Amino acid sequence: MNMNDHIDTQCLQASDAAHHLHPFADYSQKHQQISRVIVKGEDIYVWDSEGRRLLDGMAGLWCMNVGYGRKRIADAVHAQMTRLAYYNTFFHTTHPPAVELAAKLVEISPPQFNHVFFAGSGSEGNDTVVRLVRHYWAKQGHPERKIIISRHNAYHGSTMAGASLGGWPSMHQQGDLPLAGIVHIGQPSYLEGGRGKTPEQFGLEAASWLEHKILELGADKVAAFIGEPVQGAGGVIVPPPTYWPEIQRICGKYGVLLVADEVVTGFGRLGHWFGSTYFGIQPDLITFAKGVSSGYVPLGGVLVGDRIAHALMAKGGEFNHGFTYSGHPIGCVAALENIRIIEEENLVAQVRDDTGPYLKQRFEALAQHPLVGDAGAVGFLGGLNLVRHKGATVHDNVPFDRALEVGMLCRAHMFGSGVIVRTIPGDRLLISPPLTMTRAQIDEMIALITTGLDKTLAELKQRGWA
Ligand code: PMP
Repeated sequence: MNMNDHIDTQCLQASDAAHHLHPFADYSQKHQQISRVIVKGEDIYVWDSEGRRLLDGMAGLWCMNVGYGRKRIADAVHAQMTRLAYYNTFFHTTHPPAVELAAKLVEISPPQFNHVFFAGSGSEGNDTVVRLVRHYWAKQGHPERKIIISRHNAYHGSTMAGASLGGWPSMHQQGDLPLAGIVHIGQPSYLEGGRGKTPEQFGLEAASWLEHKILELGADKVAAFIGEPVQGAGGVIVPPPTYWPEIQRICGKYGVLLVADEVVTGFGRLGHWFGSTYFGIQPDLITFAKGVSSGYVPLGGVLVGDRIAHALMAKGGEFNHGFTYSGHPIGCVAALENIRIIEEENLVAQVRDDTGPYLKQRFEALAQHPLVGDAGAVGFLGGLNLVRHKGATVHDNVPFDRALEVGMLCRAHMFGSGVIVRTIPGDRLLISPPLTMTRAQIDEMIALITTGLDKTLAELKQRGWA
């Protein structure tokens, strides 16, 4: 079988089930689970091997910021492939794509950033963060400042350091994690912890957990705090507006480095090049990946702020860290072309001023659906909860019994209706669509989601669950 010439869905599915261990999958179920085969992408749509078109409300895995089928990225990659497919950036060598991309990232990032360290993914970026902040403090004469504070339910990747920084017990249980010196505080989820408080009060309270943790550990032991400006995979958890400025104040007070993991929130998703700008904070490090190349070629890395970069330059000594593919030329040209598209099509300002507010209005109106307890959106990220009964406030909504797996049922109905969304435990549904979406396409997505919700409700009623 030549899989590229003729698409035989059943043959592909059988071969996939026989040989392919998927990420985040239960292998005991493998042979019962038949994978959907995606074969083509154009604009905000993908097609499966049976010819069905699906509107991709998740932009792949939060990454296809400029949408599918961009020939100019393919052309740039092709030209670079034939010119210089690979060279490394070790041992004082470089190449034009890495030089050009580093300068471009510095140009579009907040002013405190003048340096970039390249990696191949978000996880590698966060591994780099752990090593870099500890190296920084050692060079400052404080090798005991090692502890990195993160948050429960954060997602920072799947490598040993990434999964340690992340706050998912299911990941910590595998591989004896977290690594030493990585600790967690509560997440700023108003839904989870805000009962009886205003969002502003709760934001300050959630930020105070950082100060308590620093005092408990001793500020002289704490190297950095890391957080996603908006938690993505944990459920699109948008912190109250008081949260991030207070986190910044606390980090400043104790000299703790502030790291923003912008793997999801970078490159326009919140209507700014970086989500830190949306929240008005100035991190010392920014992890990036996904939207930097819109997923056309794997690329990630860390923006290194002047506080760290200048200190390391002043002290000297090698940073013993790097990847074969740090600054891979193909990833760099894909990223450069992707950023050019974002600029030429004015996507950042469009999300900030036009389509972002429109998406928010349309998505939040889904809360009127009988199945939706609450719906919230910021930029091109959204999340809603499916509930059994709506209460007087969001804190009084009554969820479904978890065992019913209503979220999974809903996801299947969304696929059936022609839209891809993500669902997570707790019957929460997430979207993170391509930034190119027009108002008409937002209407189309909302209509498809509404159909999916209607079908889910109909089935729940039929089963006597609603
Ligand atoms: N950080 C965040 C915030 C992420 O959402 C992700 C991936 N979803 C990562 C890090 C890890 O990125 P990668 O999968 O490219 O390693």
